[in-house]
Amino acid sequence: MIKLDDAYDEQNIFAKILRGDMPNITLYEDDKTLAFMDIMPQAVGHCLVIPKEPAVTFLDLSEDSAAAVMATAKKVAAAVVKAVDAPGFMMAQLNSSAAGQTVPHYHMHILPRHDGLDLEFHARKPEDMAVLNETADKIRAYL
Ligand code: AMP
Repeated sequence: MIKLDDAYDEQNIFAKILRGDMPNITLYEDDKTLAFMDIMPQAVGHCLVIPKEPAVTFLDLSEDSAAAVMATAKKVAAAVVKAVDAPGFMMAQLNSSAAGQTVPHYHMHILPRHDGLDLEFHARKPEDMAVLNETADKIRAYL
């Protein structure tokens, strides 16, 4: 359970990705943020933007990191919608288990949307790595 007042857990999966202890399919990186493919995508092109700052929820994030996440989300979302030819997209982020957060490091979801196409279930089905890499290549081409 992730609660709003939880201390940051250095062993969470995104902290491991930031330390280089876990692989990820990186789309974009700068000094304050990292964007990578979601391995259980709810739509083709679903990716995540995280701050390098250790923060569990939006309330823990510094204004500087929040601004950096938004700047990266804007860059990456523009590339994603072109790469998967999406007429729309959602940005979402969940704060605490009560809101459905499963990884206790702040992250913004970028979810391409197409008319009449429902999202897959949240964090349910791992996608084939070759498929994720193929989509990532298409996204990177627009970054
Ligand atoms: P949330 O439930 O909002 O905390 O979202 C966590 C997201 O991280 C889910 O969409 C998961 O599919 C995704 N996820 C979990 N582990 C990994 C991982 N190792 N690499 C990339 N995405 C992950």
